[in-house]
Amino acid sequence: MTTCPACGHVGHHDGPAHACMSPSPACWARYGEVLAREYSHPGYWQARRLLTDAYCGQHSIGSDRRARQSLWIHMAALMLHFEDSVPEAQIVAFLRRAARSGHEFPPLAMPAASLGVTIDAIHAATDPGSHAQAVTDYAHAVLAAWEPHPPAFRGLIDEIAQ
Ligand SMILES: [Zn+2]
Repeated sequence: MTTCPACGHVGHHDGPAHACMSPSPACWARYGEVLAREYSHPGYWQARRLLTDAYCGQHSIGSDRRARQSLWIHMAALMLHFEDSVPEAQIVAFLRRAARSGHEFPPLAMPAASLGVTIDAIHAATDPGSHAQAVTDYAHAVLAAWEPHPPAFRGLIDEIAQ
């Protein structure tokens, strides 16, 4: 059994972990199962953008540049979704601009509150409605767990908007 260093998910899996993000193999495999469901059932698809931002943001806790960039831009995307009610197409455009911005994406310490926010409830959802609700709850909890750092993410949003 392994504990995911980013979310605290406990499980066992022999498969690979992600090269850039830092999930445990078991957590990464569980995310893969949720993604497979989203790809195979149209009703689940609408939550894909939000789940990607939440999972990738939460699990990009490495110190290398790709992980830092992933953390910053996906957390900023969650702020655009929840706080600014920005439509999905504009969030995708923001992600592209932010990735090309040359921003430094300084390291940010992972808050302890991030542990305990897992995708398990999404994995347990049995229909598109409960899936969408579980994704929303999870994404909201991820953003809340990173409460110490919103000024950093808001600064990136303001920089990209200029
Ligand atoms: Zn995890």
